[in-house]
Amino acid sequence: MTVYLDHNATAPVRPEAASAVMAALEAGGNPSSVHQSGRAARARVEQARSVIAKSICARVEDLVFTSGGTEAINLAIHAATALGAERIIHSAIEHDAVRAAAAASGLAVEEWPVTTDGRANMNWLEGRLERAGAASEAPILFALTAASNETGVLQPVADAGRMIRDAGHLFLVDAVQMTGKAPFDFAESGAQFASLSAHKAGGPQGVGALAVACDAQVGALISGGGQEKGRRGGTENVAGICGFAAAVAAVGPSESGRIAALRERLEHRLKAGAPEIVIWGEGAKRLPNTICLSAPGWPSEIQVIAMDLAGFAVSAGSACSSGKVRKSHVLQAMGASDAHAGSALRISLGWTTKEADIDAFAETWLNEYHRARPLAAAAV
Ligand code: PLP
Repeated sequence: MTVYLDHNATAPVRPEAASAVMAALEAGGNPSSVHQSGRAARARVEQARSVIAKSICARVEDLVFTSGGTEAINLAIHAATALGAERIIHSAIEHDAVRAAAAASGLAVEEWPVTTDGRANMNWLEGRLERAGAASEAPILFALTAASNETGVLQPVADAGRMIRDAGHLFLVDAVQMTGKAPFDFAESGAQFASLSAHKAGGPQGVGALAVACDAQVGALISGGGQEKGRRGGTENVAGICGFAAAVAAVGPSESGRIAALRERLEHRLKAGAPEIVIWGEGAKRLPNTICLSAPGWPSEIQVIAMDLAGFAVSAGSACSSGKVRKSHVLQAMGASDAHAGSALRISLGWTTKEADIDAFAETWLNEYHRARPLAAAAV
C-alpha cells in the first residue's frame, strides 16, 4: 500500500467529510427551492457556511462558495478590478492559480520579491507603497499566499495587510494551504479577500470559498441565477459544501502538534543520514506538515519516481497540472541554484500520517539517495 505524503497537493478525504457528502447527496434538494426539501438544503449550506466562516474568524455573510481556490482567486481579481484596481502586485512565490489569473486579468502585473528564507520582503513593500502614494495611483491589488504550498513558509500577512490597508490599497490572501492545517484569522489579516479550498483540508475536490470583507463589493464572475447573493451564479454544490465544513470541523485541536512532531522527526532523520541536504525555509515559521528539501545530484523527477516505486507518494518541488516537472519558481525566487532547484522534493504530511510512515520513508529515501548519488556524480 502506498504511503501518501503529498497532502499539499490534495489531502485524502476524511471519513467525516465523506459521510457529510453522502448524507447531503441522499437528502437532495435545491437550496433555491421554496419547498421543504429546498429549505432543508438551504439550511445545510448555511450551517456549513457558519462552520467555515467561524474557522477563519470571518462573518457568515463574508463567505462566497466557489468551485475551489482557483475560482476564488479569479473572483477576487475580478472584484478588485471592479473596485478600480489597474495593477496587481503578487509575491514571487505565489501558486500558479494567482500567477496565471493575474497574467490573464489584463491588469499590469508586478512581482513582490521574497527574502532567502522565503518570506515576502517587507522593506520592498514599504518602498513600493511609498512610491504608489507619491504617484497617487489607482488602488493596487496586492496578493500574498498565507503559506507557500512548496516550502510551507508562513507569510507576514497581518503586517502586510495593515500596511496595504493603511495606504488605501486592496489585499488578497491566498489561504488555500492554511485550510485545515494552521489557524488563519481573516479579520486580523486586514485582507479584503481570502481564498480557501476544501481538498487541502480533507474535504472534497472542486469546492472552496472566497472570504470577502464587508467593505469590498463583489460582482459575479460567473453570472446566473443570483445565488450567493448575486456574487456567484449556479446551483450550489451542496454535497461539496457540506463535505468542506465537515472536514474543517474534523480537524482536532492536537492534530497540528502531532504532525509538527512527525515533521521534526523526519527532518532530524534525513539530516542525520544526509547532512548535505538543504531544507528550504528551515529557519522560518512553516506549516507544521511541510518539508521541501534539495538533494543536489539527485534530480527531482528521479526522486519522485524512485520513491513512487518504493511505495511513497511525494512530489517534486512543484506539482504541476500537466504532470510535467518544472524548476520551482518559488525556490528560484529564494535564490536557489539550478542544482538545488532541480533536486527539490516536497514531502507533506497530514491527518493520515503515522510515525511508522515517517520512519519507513526516511529509511527508504536515505537508501535510495546513497545508491543514486555516486551514479549521478559519475554521469556528470
Ligand atoms: N493556491 C494554493 C497555494 C494552492 O496550493 C492551490 C492548489 O494546489 C490553489 C491555490 C488552487 O486551489 P484549487 O485546487 O482548489 O483550485
